[in-house]
Amino acid sequence: AEAALRQSQKMEAVGQLTGGLAHDFNNLLTGIIGSLDLMQTQLGRGRTDGLGRFLTAANASATRAAALTHRLLAFSRRQTLDPKRLSPNRLVRGMEELLARTVGPAIDVRAVLAPDAGAMLCDPNQLENALLNLAINARDAMPDGGCLVIATANMTATPAMAAALDLQAGEYVTLSVTDTGTGMTPEVSARAFDPFFTTKPMGEGTGLGLSMIYGFATQSGGQVRIESREGHGTTVRLFLPHAGDASIDDPIPAPPLTAEPG
Ligand code: ADP
Repeated sequence: AEAALRQSQKMEAVGQLTGGLAHDFNNLLTGIIGSLDLMQTQLGRGRTDGLGRFLTAANASATRAAALTHRLLAFSRRQTLDPKRLSPNRLVRGMEELLARTVGPAIDVRAVLAPDAGAMLCDPNQLENALLNLAINARDAMPDGGCLVIATANMTATPAMAAALDLQAGEYVTLSVTDTGTGMTPEVSARAFDPFFTTKPMGEGTGLGLSMIYGFATQSGGQVRIESREGHGTTVRLFLPHAGDASIDDPIPAPPLTAEPG
């Protein structure tokens, strides 16, 4: 079940990224196909000499590429953010067991929840995916075991802080995931958010985890930052828009019990 969960999360990550890439590629391909069409028209469509055949082949390839980007766009359109007002503390509490099982017995998982963290506005599924991805990264950075701390807090971003963090000034809920693992070299931390950047062996890392989290955080009106020290450990901190002083028991909306028609 966990392998399936991880796979579905990977698919979601791929969906979010491919959406952006497919959109840009589609625009470029439209330009390329348009130019090829014009060249073919000017040369005369029936030409079977070298130039005519090269143009026909180029057009066929570009058209196939466009069909592929349309498939990717259709796939990624299913990934939409559905922000809800939720309690970070409640969400973390609800995930503690899954996170502990994910990282295994050699890693001690602790939640440090600020009672005044408040409520935040974001998509609960995406946030759960993000935390799970961060826990998997932390586990991979602690092959000999260690400690994983998930902390919530409330932060007021002053105009100076907001500018430094590339955020609007205002109130935020922060969720941080700290490990006592290998840490990152400056080179790795500089590239960690790049799509497909991974230092993991083939088949183990996709390089999509942190880039997906970056997309999710910024699209939610928030931000994500890494603090890492080589040989000491890493903290990844999510900043999400604060949404009032909900009690920490503010219920997360439950899914409907019956399937909706259609
Ligand atoms: P993946 O985990 O598939 O490699 P990510 O985008 O999640 O993709 O991470 C990119 C890279 O950043 C990782 O390959 C690793 O080198 C580094 N990294 C991420 N999280 C951590 C961490 N907690 N500790 C050390 N390095 C990390």
